[in-house]
Amino acid sequence: MDFMPFFFDLKNRTCLFVGGGAIATRKARLISKAGARIIVVAPYITDEMQLLVKECHGECHFRKFEEADLECAMLVICATDDSEVNKHVSQVAQAQKLPVNVVDSPDLCSIITPAIVDRSPLMIAITSGGEAPVLARQIRSKLEVMFPSSYGTLAKIASKFRHIVKNKLTSGEQRLRFWQSVFEGPIAEKAFSGKISDAEKSIHALLESYQNLETNELSGEVYLVGGGPGDPDLLTFKALRLMQQADIVLYDRLVSDAVLNLVRRDAERVYVGKRRDDHAVPQQNINQLLVDYAQQGLRVLRLKGGDPFIFGRGGEEIELLAENNVPFQVVPGITAASGCSAYSGIPLTHRDHAQSVRFVTGHTKDGKLDLDWQSFLDSRQTLVFYMGLVNLDEICRELITCGRDENTPAALIEKGTTPDQRVVVGSLSTLSDKVKNEAVRAPTLLVIGSVVSLNSQLNWYKNK
Ligand code: SAH
Repeated sequence: MDFMPFFFDLKNRTCLFVGGGAIATRKARLISKAGARIIVVAPYITDEMQLLVKECHGECHFRKFEEADLECAMLVICATDDSEVNKHVSQVAQAQKLPVNVVDSPDLCSIITPAIVDRSPLMIAITSGGEAPVLARQIRSKLEVMFPSSYGTLAKIASKFRHIVKNKLTSGEQRLRFWQSVFEGPIAEKAFSGKISDAEKSIHALLESYQNLETNELSGEVYLVGGGPGDPDLLTFKALRLMQQADIVLYDRLVSDAVLNLVRRDAERVYVGKRRDDHAVPQQNINQLLVDYAQQGLRVLRLKGGDPFIFGRGGEEIELLAENNVPFQVVPGITAASGCSAYSGIPLTHRDHAQSVRFVTGHTKDGKLDLDWQSFLDSRQTLVFYMGLVNLDEICRELITCGRDENTPAALIEKGTTPDQRVVVGSLSTLSDKVKNEAVRAPTLLVIGSVVSLNSQLNWYKNK
């Protein structure tokens, strides 16, 4: 992180401007909105800037900058077209440990001004640290659309109730839930459509109902969420929403860091495994933990790689929840087969190649493969083996032995959909050796069938 964002209270504090041209005026407009008192030192000062200075009871000095000008300043903004002056002001201000911003010269700044979305009292600030200002501005435009000006109204209503709520709801947990229901439900809709007194009435009513609740009566819930194969852009909206409101998250090894980073920052994180042979927390304990946390009133996120109902043991986890009457929601995720197929240019079905697809586990409880090999003979069916890396050699051999053509194309996709994705392509007779030479690491997905031959044409990611 190159810069640390802070929000500066400038009310009645003096801000020194060196320079009084158009650029300085633009900055002064913003700074005066924050209630600062502005002093300008410049041989020329625009009419608008003079007016702004007058409104905030500041001062205009029509001359060149002198070091003594810094004495009364809390903050220095320098916007002259003379690079020597800019450099000098930056040096002397920094020598006096004053925060200084030199417009369009990040190297001379100790603070930079972000692109702002102003929904006062809500403020969103974006910066690229001066590295990509156009990108920062584009993000601001997106946020401007995402957060219409009525968000300011909602924030103002919330601010009015802040102290009342704090006094009436003593538990932090209750207050958090209370505000979440205000901001996510019909009350927010009322505020957005300008029905302020309606919204306020509803807040009073909600507050009363919360006061009658004990903390331990807050009902917990479990969200069994599919986090997809790795690329965070493959999450569903629903997954993201629930990830943002969880109190605690239980996640396993398949969940990528990029996905985990999207979980609410305050949520407690519990790692529950599992590597192939190292089950950090045994499955029964995970099932029980979900029940226990939910019964404490927490919103528990069970975050899984891919889809929770495809080789994810999601079914077992919600069985115990159902037995214990714990409310739950299941959110599907993009399963590894879909993600890897799309990102490696291997369609799982294709009119000319495969009329069906089968998802198979390549790992069994005791490590032995006990599959009905005869059922895999259809050359127009794509086979996808999950957890197949360790038994890759055996899977390919068994398929040949039972009668599948040894030239059937086969691919192993490593860390599919992530920036580290690799695809090793061969056939049933060659893939295993190729993989050995490539030092491939889990997670990997094995795809077998004629569709794999399309990879050389359709792998857009590789061909880019
Ligand atoms: N529920 C998951 C599967 C869990 S089983 C899903 O729907 O995807 C774990 C196996 O999934 C791994 O051994 C591997 O075969 C596969 N897998 C998961 N993520 C993967 C990825 N990013 N790339 C390749 N294979 C992956």
